[in-house]
Amino acid sequence: MSAPQQPGNSPVTSPGGSHPAGVPHDVLAAAARTPGPGAFDTHHPPDAALIADCVHCGFCLPTCPTYVLWGEETDSPRGRIHLMKQGLEGEPLTDSMVTHFDRCLGCMSCVTACPSGVRYDRLISDTRQQVERRHPRGPRDRALRAAIFALFPHPKRLRLLRGPLRAYRASGLRELVRRTGLLPRLAPTLAALDALTPPLRRPPRLPARVPAVGARRAVVGMLTGCVQRAFFPEVNAATVRVLAAEGCEVVILPDRQGCCGALSVHNGRDAEARRFARRMLDTFAAAGIDYFVVNAAGCGSTLKEYGDLLRDEPRYAALAADFAGKVRDLSELLVELGPVAPRHPLPVTVAYHDACHLAHAQGVRDQPRRLLRAIPGLELREIADPELCCGSAGVWNVLHPGPAAELGDRKARTVLATGARLLVTANPGCLMQVAASVARAGGHLALAHTVQVLDASIRGLDVEELLHQTR
Ligand code: SF4
Ligand code: SF4
Repeated sequence: MSAPQQPGNSPVTSPGGSHPAGVPHDVLAAAARTPGPGAFDTHHPPDAALIADCVHCGFCLPTCPTYVLWGEETDSPRGRIHLMKQGLEGEPLTDSMVTHFDRCLGCMSCVTACPSGVRYDRLISDTRQQVERRHPRGPRDRALRAAIFALFPHPKRLRLLRGPLRAYRASGLRELVRRTGLLPRLAPTLAALDALTPPLRRPPRLPARVPAVGARRAVVGMLTGCVQRAFFPEVNAATVRVLAAEGCEVVILPDRQGCCGALSVHNGRDAEARRFARRMLDTFAAAGIDYFVVNAAGCGSTLKEYGDLLRDEPRYAALAADFAGKVRDLSELLVELGPVAPRHPLPVTVAYHDACHLAHAQGVRDQPRRLLRAIPGLELREIADPELCCGSAGVWNVLHPGPAAELGDRKARTVLATGARLLVTANPGCLMQVAASVARAGGHLALAHTVQVLDASIRGLDVEELLHQTR
């Protein structure tokens, strides 16, 4: 089967790469690829040895959001692994098989739950790039994915949307459209996007470098991101302030860095993801950083896997592996360094939501809680069923708005049951998804990134001011 060409996923040439001049990487990769006997070709199919690690015990099933929603074996981790095995054994890549792979949120809850250490993360990642290369999607799906990937991984294009979105809200048009109740019925994807868009505040401009406050303890590169930068610029500003207050010189280079490739990786768009990764490496290669800090969970898990993503590219493989070793979630680095900036009291009840790509994909659960508990007066409350995804999962909630809303509603119920005044998490997607779900449930809750709470404590902000800023 020939690979369908995707908009935005076309072969690219790395400037100055070690390949022959003018020969794009993917032409070389395609030459090394031959169709396999079943669903997959020979370019990184799901690994049969990893599949064989699954002993079919089913411990992962109750933690899988799609199994919880539908109770179907084929929509469980075990069922998807079985489909991969069938694909390796000769079954063709059918529409039905692709549907079950597409329905996976990539939340990696099953990786945490599995007592046999099955690397489902590797399996689904390899499967997805095969699907994107080999499965011709229908016109509607193709158009929707093309639109998503022409917009979301491009911070400058997202920024251009801010003006029209603010006007849409300020003019009262949004309320009018909502009152008709037509949007969810006529255009569920647009309705989902409308519900998810957060209030847009004026973005502060970030400089290329910010010096450490007091003695310098580390030089730290910082990801500004795409959605984070366009819709939550106050989170990036708080990240810079907290890092500087904790003795870090922060290297930002906002005009040079772009998308890290996370959305593309999570959706099997391998060539596009590698192009973004190469650009990120080129941007920070000569910056002299000790660490590279990320404040968005989905981006962090991808950046830590750069060595794997670029393993086939001779010029970048070693650089990518070295860079990946410097990547830290912000909470990891702050705990690693230890605090120097004094914390002021913030008497507030906080529910902490584990972003899947932080808890399951990176194993970072304790550090954000430790940072929050160290704030005098702050009371931390746990949310029931913390392992279950809120339904955000990158762009999954745009591609699957119905089931994503169901998962969001479950999460909103458990969040509201804590009685906390503030929900804290470490991923822009989760912030948008939980905010929309809480609003649908008629709840009132402020939502903030972990770093905004730390920033407020370090700056000595009043609780009401923090809650007002994050509402
Ligand atoms: S990654 Fe999440 S949605 Fe996918 S199979 Fe695992 S638990 Fe289920
Ligand atoms: S918990 Fe692990 S070994 Fe058991 S069925 Fe799930 S993936 Fe397979």
